[in-house]
Amino acid sequence: MMVSRGATRSPVIHEFEAVIVGAGGAGLWAALELARAGVRTAVLTKLYPTRSHTGAAQGGVCAALGNLEEDHWEWHMFDTVKGGDYLVDQDGAEVLAQEAIERVIELEQMGLPFNRTPDGRIDQRRFGGHTRNFGEGPVRRSCFAADRTGHMILQTLYQQCIKHEVTFFDEYHVVDLLVDDGLTGGVVAYRIADGELHVFRAAAVLLATGGNGRMFRVTSNAHTLTGDGMALAYRRGIPLQDMEFYQFHPTGIVGLGILLSEAARGEGGYLLNDQGERFMERYAPRLMELAPRDLVSRAIYMETRAGRGIGGQDFVYLDVRHLGREVIEAKLPDITDFARIYQGVEPLTQPVPIQPTAHYAMGGVPTDIEARVVVDDRGTVLPGLHAAGEAACVSVHGANRLGTNSLVDLLVFGRRAGRSMAEYCRSAAAPELVANAHEPVRAELDALRTRGVGENPNHIRAELAAAMMDDCGVFRTGDGLRRLVPRIRELKERYERARVQDAGSIFNTDLLEAHELGYLLDCAEATVASALAREESRGAHFREDHPERDDGDWLKHTLAYRAEGGPRLAYKPVTITRFEPKPRTY
Ligand SMILES: Cc1cc2nc3c(=O)[nH]c(=O)nc-3n(C[C@H](O)[C@H](O)[C@H](O)COP(=O)(O)OP(=O)(O)OC[C@H]3O[C@@H](n4cnc5c(N)ncnc54)[C@H](O)[C@@H]3O)c2cc1C
Repeated sequence: MMVSRGATRSPVIHEFEAVIVGAGGAGLWAALELARAGVRTAVLTKLYPTRSHTGAAQGGVCAALGNLEEDHWEWHMFDTVKGGDYLVDQDGAEVLAQEAIERVIELEQMGLPFNRTPDGRIDQRRFGGHTRNFGEGPVRRSCFAADRTGHMILQTLYQQCIKHEVTFFDEYHVVDLLVDDGLTGGVVAYRIADGELHVFRAAAVLLATGGNGRMFRVTSNAHTLTGDGMALAYRRGIPLQDMEFYQFHPTGIVGLGILLSEAARGEGGYLLNDQGERFMERYAPRLMELAPRDLVSRAIYMETRAGRGIGGQDFVYLDVRHLGREVIEAKLPDITDFARIYQGVEPLTQPVPIQPTAHYAMGGVPTDIEARVVVDDRGTVLPGLHAAGEAACVSVHGANRLGTNSLVDLLVFGRRAGRSMAEYCRSAAAPELVANAHEPVRAELDALRTRGVGENPNHIRAELAAAMMDDCGVFRTGDGLRRLVPRIRELKERYERARVQDAGSIFNTDLLEAHELGYLLDCAEATVASALAREESRGAHFREDHPERDDGDWLKHTLAYRAEGGPRLAYKPVTITRFEPKPRTY
């Protein structure tokens, strides 16, 4: 679909009706909808599509199918709202819980090989925070394909996209978002193979770029999860919503952060301290190991702080030995292999050392329930721009996401994004391209590559990740966060003077990683400012100096706008339809 090629150093220009940035679960389902609607669409992805992080999701995708015991979407909605500590927009949670059922069945019909019950239905297992009858006790709601559910979703959706002849631009790294006069105009991408800039003009754009876990030193997130879509929007004056809410998953491999899915606890795995106690008894006597993740992560920290970590160190054990070889091999094959490969531990006979790992961004680019990006507290839409998946904040996860609710989010809101974009493209055309739209980002990339001397950006990246882990992790204080504000400003200033080692244009991943550091710094700045302002504890945001939830002052979403001298914060109300906030008990 290439239409013109300019003189030397002019970008290649492409014309499409819609552009999707990201080929994870959210991007692929949106692409499928657009293809079905006959909209000319390009999917741009910095990774080969099936390498997207969705493929790493292990535990499952929840839907109230009720295949093994009674279940209802209203119970799922309630758990989502309660798990999110009442910061969830309940119109979104209702859509999520209802449409989860249809989407999972649609995936089954596309051929996804779910585990089965003896009578041939989709098997379901327990997961943290999923309950029957509005909190009475655990329910089996997570549908799964062993511990490779995300892998199967990604492969299934990719196959469908190929079948529907979706146009992919693999290994195109998007480096700028074009917004002109309040209208979406397309994106600028850098072709990784040769360093050429490509401008994609389109009326509708979807940001489906995934999370930003690489802000933190210990994380389950792949190396490429650097918050690109969030930062691209932020740089165009779009706020980032609820960035202070970042989920730490309790069970990461010590030091490395690689995830051992909650499926291990869903199948009945225990958490043990140095004294061999199932210490969750102290923190969540009813739900025990299956209490929400923020609570379990904090419990692990409390145990290790109290000197009850294994050998007095900063980790505890995940024990699955009692589940037996058959269950472990049928239902937890991958994660037990991770323990063998990365830790040299045999989970059939030994407990596995684990500690919390940075896992999931509840915050992101604000959208309505049609996945349209909204730019203020009144729900004003930026025409043509959409966001879905982890890059977006609908907000269905509120202050803390339930396990298995992210994959559902991709399916439900990825599809809605595709539909909304198709409808938008029926009546809207892309605005004319601004002359030299690619020039600002070209100058930025050239500077990183060619300035005479400059610091290695990898050092800045490592310092950022360590500082965020220390002062903006599972526990936060006003003092720690106040320390971080000038620290991030300093890192940003150093970044402005950084220089990469590789000056070439062929597969210059050094350059792209440096550019990603710019995205991480923007995300970190918005996260810290939002966390410092929120003087309460809610969901994953735990302030030791303000340990209580404060609905009077803080039952509201944060919006962080980019501004000179640090983010400007604004707030918007939470949509409450069915469930009034109640204190949390587990
Ligand atoms: C180890 C692990 C296990 C998980 N397990 C579960 C689970 O069991 N259940 C669950 O519900 N959730 C789980 N999650 C969370 C869930 O997998 C993710 O939130 C979700 O897959 C994100 O999907 P996405 O479509 O938003 O983006 P991703 O799948 O992360 O894909 C992002 C896409 O954006 C592209 N991209 C990014 N930046 C650019 C750029 N600048 N230019 C071009 N392309 C770009 C990438 O190439 C990629 O295609 C897990 C997460 C991790 C890390």
